[in-house]
Amino acid sequence: MSSKALSLLATLCLMLTCAPAGAADANRYEAMAESLLRDAIRRETAYGLGQVPDYAETLRRHFLAAGFPETAVQIVPLGETASLLVRYRGDGSSGRRPILFSSHMDVVPADPNDWVRNPFELQEDDTFYFGRGVLDNKFDVSILTTLFIALKEEGYVPNRDLVIAFTGDEESYQATVQQLTRDYRDEIDAEFAFVVDGGGGSLNDAGEAFQFKVGFAEKTYATFAVTARNPGGHSSMPRDDNAIYDLADALKRLQAYRFPLQTNEITLTYFERTAPLVGGEVGDAMARIVADPSDTAAIDLLRQQPEYVGTLGTTCIPTMLAGGHAENALPQSATATVNCRIFPGNGVQPTLQVLQQVADDPELEWRVVGEPVSSDASPFNAEIMTAIKTSLEPLYPGVPVIPQMGSGTTDGAFFRAAGIPSYSLTGIFINPRDSFAHGLNERVPKRSIRDSLLFWRAMIDQLAGAGSSTPTGGPDNP
Ligand SMILES: [Zn+2]
Repeated sequence: MSSKALSLLATLCLMLTCAPAGAADANRYEAMAESLLRDAIRRETAYGLGQVPDYAETLRRHFLAAGFPETAVQIVPLGETASLLVRYRGDGSSGRRPILFSSHMDVVPADPNDWVRNPFELQEDDTFYFGRGVLDNKFDVSILTTLFIALKEEGYVPNRDLVIAFTGDEESYQATVQQLTRDYRDEIDAEFAFVVDGGGGSLNDAGEAFQFKVGFAEKTYATFAVTARNPGGHSSMPRDDNAIYDLADALKRLQAYRFPLQTNEITLTYFERTAPLVGGEVGDAMARIVADPSDTAAIDLLRQQPEYVGTLGTTCIPTMLAGGHAENALPQSATATVNCRIFPGNGVQPTLQVLQQVADDPELEWRVVGEPVSSDASPFNAEIMTAIKTSLEPLYPGVPVIPQMGSGTTDGAFFRAAGIPSYSLTGIFINPRDSFAHGLNERVPKRSIRDSLLFWRAMIDQLAGAGSSTPTGGPDNP
């Protein structure tokens, strides 16, 4: 066993059960995380309700009470919401830039009438905690807060700064992360960021851990509106030209089109490592694509799987429709909304050009809805992958670590776009069928508190602990 592994073991012992004092500490911090989560869930921090700043202020007081100086804990207000920045000063002995940890304090709305349990009260059974945000993402806000407090109380000195950025509107406009990357770039500067929101461990139906996912990249979320126009007229005097027909024809051409297969290091590694876990014809198709990306039969088979179609290239699909102005009038306009998830490396404008070509009607008017943010994949980082494997080993020995490409825009896309490589992961292990993020009866396994505290503590030891200053550059074996 290396000296690093020994010190990790000692650290785990401190937080876990190897000594009575350590066990007491572990229990105390587990209770702290639960208490923070309980307080968080009762706050309805959905967009527009103005509840985030008070949540941020409460967290700020916890950090101050644990000994963080006032200057290290900063609330950054923005309209009805806010971000919270916390800097844990290291001794700088590694000469390396900080590590950024990011989660979000807001939630998607929840209507208590639709829920079995009150979504704004932490409830539990033997296995799970329930409540809005209990998984996405107040759990990890509570874990990171507890972790920083535990380290501070212990007198831990990392060899580089550790920075927390809790954002305040990830589920809506993501204006807070844009404010941070624009106006607070120095404060959040980091060698890399962990976006502690998404990714993490998967359990099978037997409750066994079978994979741990790390997000390295995200597709660009972009929405286009396409409009057909027509002079219109009276419906009693129909003509061949008609805005609704023109739009429908264009949509039928889009329906028949498939963007070409695209792969990158992330998706190929994802398929390579997922193939043996999935098995069957789907696993076989993944292995065949890795061996030969021109295997059309394998591509077609995988494209039939909703879980995997997004991993194979850009996708665009109509999602909304509007048109006409009276039931007895020829329509003067018809508009479809087309939502795209653009494979990294392809821009928004080039994707729009493809859609225009496929629609094959120069009379159609196209526009981009909102301001899509594009980000390239974060580099494959062997040091981080090794740290993850090492940190998981005492908890879930041998679990494969699988790189992943997300299909939406998390705050990580903005950090990446600002030049901070970002990796999405959480210490939560959950059966995918138990994951009700954004949905009714959102839940998180209770065991995740202990797992997450141990996992992240080990990660910090690996990446910012004494003796961790030299990148290991170790092999990235699953
Ligand atoms: Zn989230």
